[in-house]
Amino acid sequence: MAYDYDLLVIGAGSGGVRAARIAAGYGKKVAICESDKVGGTCVIRGCVPKKLFVYASQYKKMFKAAKTFGWDIDSQFNWPTLLKNKDDEINRLNGIYLKLLANAGVELIKGHGSFVDEHVVDIGGQHYTAENILIATGGTPTVPDMPGSEYVITSNEALDLAELPKSITINGGGYIAVEFAGIFNALGVKVNLVYRGEQILRGFDDEVAGFAQNSFTDAGINVMTMTEITAIKKDADSYICESNQGDIHSDVVFFATGRKANTQSLNLAQVGVQTKPNGQVVVNKEQQTNLPHIFAVGDVCNSDNLTPVAIREGHYLVNRLFNGGDQYAEYDYIPTTVFSQPEIGTCGLTEAEAKTQYKNIECFTSTFRAMKYAMSEVTEKTFMKIVVNTDTDQVLGMHVCGADGGEMIQGFGVAIKQGLTKTQLNSTIGIHPTSAEEFVTL
Ligand code: NDP
Repeated sequence: MAYDYDLLVIGAGSGGVRAARIAAGYGKKVAICESDKVGGTCVIRGCVPKKLFVYASQYKKMFKAAKTFGWDIDSQFNWPTLLKNKDDEINRLNGIYLKLLANAGVELIKGHGSFVDEHVVDIGGQHYTAENILIATGGTPTVPDMPGSEYVITSNEALDLAELPKSITINGGGYIAVEFAGIFNALGVKVNLVYRGEQILRGFDDEVAGFAQNSFTDAGINVMTMTEITAIKKDADSYICESNQGDIHSDVVFFATGRKANTQSLNLAQVGVQTKPNGQVVVNKEQQTNLPHIFAVGDVCNSDNLTPVAIREGHYLVNRLFNGGDQYAEYDYIPTTVFSQPEIGTCGLTEAEAKTQYKNIECFTSTFRAMKYAMSEVTEKTFMKIVVNTDTDQVLGMHVCGADGGEMIQGFGVAIKQGLTKTQLNSTIGIHPTSAEEFVTL
């Protein structure tokens, strides 16, 4: 049977766009469908606008530090200016993505895709056939069902608030909650960060998470642990979150309580593509679903929910399918950064994880004030931690919470993945004066 396309990609986010354009580069007939702008969560309502907001919010601290360096700055922050420039930047990136697809010869079909049968996808009422189909539809924020949940915003809306609120209650203690808590706090909004457990950032190294939590409190965030919101009400002036610790009043209530895979309207059951109870598409090592010609990459099927992981999965998949490739995305030692303030860079095992996997481990830590703040009124500190297997000298994990933590960990991540030892780390000469040099002297 002749198909319209060799590959039809559903969803033009990071993973889908990469797969489509590389496959087209191999001479395949490729289409990608998307009902929104091109770029997906990362470009439109995730990493990119969030990081722009982080930059915007950091200026206040820099202005504070600047005084000691001789700068006398009279600064005013304008939220609409930030929103407009952020939108312009997203449109610019959308344009670049469109050009990349067009130049590669990928056909962009505007509309929502859903399966009609194993080789047929409906997009806006039209049916398209493809030999291979890639599901790359990403994920979306989830809000637990409770009275008043209709008043809640998520990260989608937080990036487009018409006005900067005076106060905000953020529910959750993961990546998104702490990143936005940092942004709003630094922009002068009163932030309540509400978390149901004892310590935020579950899954991160306990000491790093504890240091981060204390740093957030020192920076002015009202961190409320062991607090569960059970309902939200609205009065004339504000929203009221009812919780086991009492009522919490604020102008805006923002839930960052996790994300779910975008599979609900794909009609997967119709064609028999298996999904997990949480809605994620089940794939094997080949990114292949239970149907051999239907594949999935990115947040719709993995639990790492990181742009570079989706891109790697999509790129290697089409390499294998159409160009004789034999590489697979590797999920060990993925370096990652939480763009909180201070930010967290991490790669490898936490101390708790290392203890469950290895008999003898040793941790090396350091807490200090980064030089860029040393003379100033900014009291923020940096914490570093190295987790080592003392039987083999292997560095199992490196963690930092402090200024530029993410930039530091990317490079060390390369070395950790190649089996870095503590001796090798210490035989490396530090770059002075930097914060990162502390890692090679610990
Ligand atoms: P996370 O899974 O990181 O955090 C969800 C948080 O919500 C946890 O603290 C969790 O608590 C809490 N939570 C879950 N359900 C409830 C509930 N019913 N009531 C109260 N609290 C609840 O999800 P995010 O939404 O923050 O981010 C999703 C993913 O996106 C991340 O895991 C990450 O992979 C990716 N991401 C990456 C970024 C980056 O690389 N910088 C930035 C943003 C997102 P508990 O710990 O108790 O389960």
